[in-house]
Amino acid sequence: MSKKIRMGGDGLLIVPDNPVIPFIEGDGIGPDIWKASVRVFDAAVAKAYEGKRKIEWMEVLAGEKAFNLTGEWMPAATMEAFREYLLAIKGPLTTPVGGGIRSLNVALRQELDLFVNLRPVRYFEGVPSPMWQPEKVNMVIFRENTEDIYAGIEFMTGTPEAKKLLKFLQEELNVKKIRFPQTSSFGIKPVSKEGSERLIRSAIEYAIVNKLPSVTFVHKGNIMKFTEGAFKNWGYELAVREFPNEVYTWNQWEATKKESGEAVANEEMRIAQIGGKIIIKDAIADNFLQQALLAPQNYSVIATLNLNGDYISDALAAQVGGIGIAPGANINFLTGHAVFEATHGTAPRFANTNTMNPSSVILSGVMLLDYMNWKEAGELITNGIGKTIKNRKVTIDFYNLMKDATLLKTSEFADEVIKNL
Ligand code: NAD
Repeated sequence: MSKKIRMGGDGLLIVPDNPVIPFIEGDGIGPDIWKASVRVFDAAVAKAYEGKRKIEWMEVLAGEKAFNLTGEWMPAATMEAFREYLLAIKGPLTTPVGGGIRSLNVALRQELDLFVNLRPVRYFEGVPSPMWQPEKVNMVIFRENTEDIYAGIEFMTGTPEAKKLLKFLQEELNVKKIRFPQTSSFGIKPVSKEGSERLIRSAIEYAIVNKLPSVTFVHKGNIMKFTEGAFKNWGYELAVREFPNEVYTWNQWEATKKESGEAVANEEMRIAQIGGKIIIKDAIADNFLQQALLAPQNYSVIATLNLNGDYISDALAAQVGGIGIAPGANINFLTGHAVFEATHGTAPRFANTNTMNPSSVILSGVMLLDYMNWKEAGELITNGIGKTIKNRKVTIDFYNLMKDATLLKTSEFADEVIKNL
């Protein structure tokens, strides 16, 4: 039987019992963290399936290690393996300074069209947090990963391109709003209907499968009406068009309010909620950041554009313990391709010190196992991490912020999680 994970005709993954999964250990602190994490994954899978299932890890090269061994930052063979084996997991990679490659992560996202950046944010009891009630934070962020002002369409002031664009804007489109035209640089913000819809559809489907109460579109549509505002409008339209039996939207609430008054609209929404319908709502990004601190319990799945998503995911991660414990994934829900990764960087100062927190890679592995539908193994690990932190056995990042904790090295933290599986 093939050991490759494949996408079935029904849009569900076909996962053999001994799948080959490529991994990149990463640069800087990556090797320490990967070595610790992979032991946790193997122990959890062995325990959950009593030897019936086992992942065959296949190392592929990228980043500094690849450059030193092959002269290339992202060898074609690595990209090919990601394409062929569908799922992969990676540690942090050094971003090359200068040269042709902007960012290895961006290259991967573009090459495989990984249009969702998925970042679950939840609290583990005992993790030091600046929040009063951090346990109320439990959100999953769907950040659009391919468009927006991050598409990289930028022109530096003074270049022929910037001059040409300025001329076009002023002469062809009669634009008069550029305050300092001669010294302006320009960035283009493409936001498409297709791109917005595939992201929002994935978010709603995720909420349905995981029985979550709401999906919130976070946007700045009050100012950027045709990009961020359109994102929101396309989202509401898609929700009622494609999921009429599964959702209740704030637009429907507004319509009922207009027709029959607020009390009737509230009652309608309450009944929808009781009936298990997902509430589709929206929030303006600045207000959302405030609400996420004041009333995080009101938010569950977040669907947002690229730049908002970047800020939001780090801000929310900080509420529950910061980047040492924040997992993530880049996913194309249509082809199945997914790359799971820690959200922090390579922290080069701490390379080979065996001191850093491996939780973000371990929890990225939990996301991988969930995505493969090996949920039992993922749950064991989540519980193992939960118990370890609750017992106040932590790495230096948490130790520095906690009272009466026991300081563990990266490898010792993994030993402890394995003990607690
Ligand atoms: P960084 O995330 O590597 O480190 C910032 C600080 O966060 C560290 O000094 C450390 O104190 C803390 N930290 C990070 N990971 C931790 C962990 N697992 N446990 C405990 N503490 C941790 O950010 P940086 O210094 O800005 O970037 C260094 C390099 O990493 C750059 O080359 C950058 O481009 C790259 N980078 C890669 C990725 C990625 O591959 N996904 C993401 C961000 C940055």
